[in-house]
Amino acid sequence: MKTLADAFEHTLKDIYYAENAILKAGPKVAAKVGSAELKRVIEDHMKDTEVQVKILDDVFRTIDAPSSGEKCDAIEGLIKETDGIVREAEGVALDVAVIGALQAIEHYEIARYGTLREWAMTLGNREAHDLLGRILDMEKAANSKLTGLAVANVNEGGERAGKRRASA
Ligand code: FE
Ligand code: FE
Ligand code: ZN
Ligand code: FE
Repeated sequence: MKTLADAFEHTLKDIYYAENAILKAGPKVAAKVGSAELKRVIEDHMKDTEVQVKILDDVFRTIDAPSSGEKCDAIEGLIKETDGIVREAEGVALDVAVIGALQAIEHYEIARYGTLREWAMTLGNREAHDLLGRILDMEKAANSKLTGLAVANVNEGGERAGKRRASA
C-alpha cells in the first residue's frame, strides 16, 4: 500500500468485510433484546445494511475493482463485545448495554465512511464520494435512532427501576 488510491481500496475492503459481518451478527442481537422498539430499529438497520453492501458494490465499480472484503479487526472486536453483552446481561441492563454497543459500531462506521468519502473527493472520484455520503447518512440516522431510544425510552425505564430499588 503506497498511494492514497491504495489506502482507499484497502479501507473499502475493510468496511465491506465489516458490513457483511454486521449482517451476520445483527439478527442474533435483535432476537435477544427486550424492547420491541429496539428490536425494530435493529431489524430496520439490517435492511439498510443490505442496501449498503449493494452501494459498496457500486463504489468498487467506480475503481474497477471486484467487491471483496479484508478482515476488519475493529468490527470483529466490536461484535465480540456486543455478543458478550447479549450472553451476560438481562432485563433493562441488556437493552441499555446493547444500545451502547450498537452505538459504538455506528460510530466506527461513521468514522470509516467519513474518511472514505473525503478520500474519494481528493481522488477526484465524485461518484464514490456521493455513494459513500449516502451510506454515511444512513449510519448517522441509525445512530440518532439509537440515541433517541436510549434517552427517551429504555434508559428512562432503567432509571425508574433504579429509583424504585433505591426507595424500597
Ligand atoms: Fe453499515
Ligand atoms: Fe476496520
Ligand atoms: Zn465531501
Ligand atoms: Fe450501521
